Amino acid sequence: MRFGPRRGNRAGLVGIVILAVLFATSCSTLVIDDTVISSDAMQGRQNDTPGSVGAQNYLIYRLKPVAVGLDSSRTGDDAFKQPFDAGTNILAKIPGTDKADEYVIIGAHYDHLGINCRTSNDADHICNGATDNGAGVAALLSIAGMIKADGPPRRTVILALWDREEDGLLGSKYYTDHPLVPLAKTVAYINFDIQGANLLPSLQNTSFAVGAESGGAGLTTLVKNAIGTGPLQTRLVSSIFGQGRSDYVNFTAVGVPNVFFSDSTGPCYHTAQDEVSVVDFWKLEQQVKIADKLAMSLTQADGRPTFSPTNPLATFDDALTLQSITDGAISDIARFTPAQQTQLLAFRDQLNTVVAAGAANFDANDISTLVGGAATAVGILTTGACDGFISHH
Ligand SMILES: [Zn+2]
Repeated sequence: MRFGPRRGNRAGLVGIVILAVLFATSCSTLVIDDTVISSDAMQGRQNDTPGSVGAQNYLIYRLKPVAVGLDSSRTGDDAFKQPFDAGTNILAKIPGTDKADEYVIIGAHYDHLGINCRTSNDADHICNGATDNGAGVAALLSIAGMIKADGPPRRTVILALWDREEDGLLGSKYYTDHPLVPLAKTVAYINFDIQGANLLPSLQNTSFAVGAESGGAGLTTLVKNAIGTGPLQTRLVSSIFGQGRSDYVNFTAVGVPNVFFSDSTGPCYHTAQDEVSVVDFWKLEQQVKIADKLAMSLTQADGRPTFSPTNPLATFDDALTLQSITDGAISDIARFTPAQQTQLLAFRDQLNTVVAAGAANFDANDISTLVGGAATAVGILTTGACDGFISHH
């Protein structure tokens, strides 16, 4: 059964605003936004449902003070919406100044899986998606506020909240097939998907920036500079390690340099237990600072990154990074089954062998070893009971 959209929307928005005001006195906007977006009221933000409409209304309500709707051919809230097959992207812009006809897109999917998620609690099957991707959406909204507060950027910033990512990256695919600004003038795309999440207790200070090489040395340098030497160690890995699993893929396909910020898939992934209580807001704050710095450098620089096809698929640097992460995580090995421990230790041994052979000997076999081993490790990390592993901040 579906209730009438007008009445439902208004009632939902009033409730949401009250909820936001209740939180506003004591929490950061990151906590408020993720709490609202991931609330049970949104019913798992499945596309084309009242819960999704509630999420859309909240996003537009949050965007309006800092941005305008991207589609100037439409009026009111519709200017923020890009409808497509059973979905709605939410798109806004912060207009630029002297380079206003060039664009930096910051994107995150807001949809999730509805109300039938795998659960450890029979009373709760709602797919709240607080890390996937309420946290990414909250990060985007926070950065939008920071950009607005800093005064107009040189390049126009586009804020993109994608729908139907969970159905096969369909919202961002629709956008890149029907762009509202020229793709050739789109300087870079910054993607958030799964933020504020910890894979293991030993990886609380670890996060990932995937695929910066798509913008060549130019983008790679900007990403490294934005990460800096802060308390959160965001590790650069090649695009292939994103496994094609988020909206960045559609921008690579049309030649737009991109980077995908992610914490990968831990034991809460796609379960009903992916709730705000497992979000590491300390980590999310660091991620916002890094991405804001990157967005700023992309909007303000005279030059722009050059798209570079991601070839080779993986590099010796990836081997060093994966070795370092695996070494760091070995203290948590007892969390896994004996068979899984054997697989993880085998991967570590393989990484040690590849690294010991040196950069000059890094070849196609090593690339297979890295990509295959990482896929196995990611699969193992999604097993076990959901836990945010938030302890030391
Ligand atoms: Zn996601």
